[in-house]
This record gives sequence, C-alpha cells and structure tokens, in this order.
Amino acid sequence: MRPVTIAHIFPDLLNLYGDGGNLVCLKQRCAWRGIPVEVIAQRYGESLDLSQVDIVFLGGGPDREQKLASEGLLRMRDALKEYVEAEGVLLAICGGYQILGKEWLLAGESIEGLGIVDIVTKRVNRKPRRLIENIVLQSPLCPMPVVGYENHAGRTFLGEGLKPFGKVISTTGWGNNDDDKQDGVLYKNVLGTYLHGPLLGKNPQIADHLLKQASSVRTQRGLEAFELSPLDDTIEKAANEAMLKRLNVARQNITTTEPS
Ligand code: GLN
Repeated sequence: MRPVTIAHIFPDLLNLYGDGGNLVCLKQRCAWRGIPVEVIAQRYGESLDLSQVDIVFLGGGPDREQKLASEGLLRMRDALKEYVEAEGVLLAICGGYQILGKEWLLAGESIEGLGIVDIVTKRVNRKPRRLIENIVLQSPLCPMPVVGYENHAGRTFLGEGLKPFGKVISTTGWGNNDDDKQDGVLYKNVLGTYLHGPLLGKNPQIADHLLKQASSVRTQRGLEAFELSPLDDTIEKAANEAMLKRLNVARQNITTTEPS
C-alpha cells in the first residue's frame, strides 16, 4: 500500500516548542502497528502535491517566521483549500492555526490569512500580554483530557457555528482568547489549536483520532485504508496524568465516556 504520508509544511519556519514531535509521534504510532508511513518536509520555496498526502501539519512560529511562512502558504491557498474541503486531515498549532483564518495581526499590522477556516486573530492592544501557561482541555474528540502548553500574543475568535477543539478545564491557561475559556477549532477534518507540548505525545487519543480520519479519507480517495490496532499507552497516559496532577485538575471535571 502507499505509505501513510504526513507532510510538515515549512519545518524551517513553523516548528516551535517541540511541534515537530507531533510528526515523530504519528510516525511511531503507525510503525508500531506495522503500517507503512512516511514523513515529508516541504521546505520554504519547494512545492508539494497534496493529492499524495494523508495528513498535513502546520506548526507554530515566531512573528517574523510566521509572516514569511504565510506568504508561502498564500501561494498554496487554492490547493490547501481544496484539500481541506475534500476532508483532508490537517493539524495546525498556534501560528499555523492563526494563518488558516481570514486575518491575523502582527504588531498592529493586519496580515491576510488563508481564509480556509472562519476565524480571526487579533492583538488586544499595542503591547499585549502574551498568554503563556500550561493548559488542560476537555475535547469532544476523546475521553482523556488533553494537556498542553500555550505561548501566544494573538487572540483568536471563532466564526458563527464553529466548534472549538475543547473547553479549558484547568485553572491555568486561556486557549483562544482572554474570555471564551475554550481552545482551538474543529472544521471538517481540520484541528486547529494553541496547544504545543508537543500535543500528540501526551494525548495519544488525539493522535489516533487524526490517523483514523486519514484512514477513512483514503477510502474515499480509492486508496487502501489501514487498521488502528490498540497500542499499550501506559507511558503516554502516565505523562498525561502527571500533568493533570501538577495542574490540580479535579477528577469531577473530567468526562471519561467515549464521545458520541
Ligand atoms: N506569533 C504568534 C503569536 O504570538 C504565534 C506564536 C506561536 O506559534 N507560538 O500570537
């Protein structure tokens, strides 16, 4: 079968706080199951055929790199939009998440986004406090709480009817903005979030959720699907629980039933 192909777009620009670890995690979870897998890096200036890709990854970036990356991404806008509208799986963290929206602000300057997801990112004032914290979410995508770390100046607002990735259940952390107590966005098979960490290492159910989506999209594309046999996630779950304990997330705040 054609290997599960995961593309890291602009790893030289969009790759903060261990974001690249998400690709290591996806690759390893396929390898453990004997599923052929390939991670490709699309460097700035190179082209990429998205019809050959099962999962696209956009990491976070400092303002300068994010601006450069967004120029490159704008040149790929039509292909990316087509990919997303055809249920392509896309994980976008922080700066990469912001770029998916209509616009984002850089030190007062409005930068055109891809407009693929109905979100906007603003800066609250000229010298905004950065939102830097450990954070825990309850997401409809999995029963396990999602743990991570955020560090951003932009505040993101979701358009009408869009669902967040999760609600903030820790006493620390903000997510999208100062007020909403929710983080990220879910749109088709796009998962946008402020959570670095890297996200997937401590949240294996999210990693498998993305792989499951990728498998079912392959069927729609006439490609061979792949089976996600259960893995022993004892270590990953212990890492997740260690963060819950450290952040004092009360057990009663956690839903443990499977999402409907
Ligand atoms: N530069 C963006 C901001 O500060 C995103 C930062 C990041 O990706 N961590 O809002």
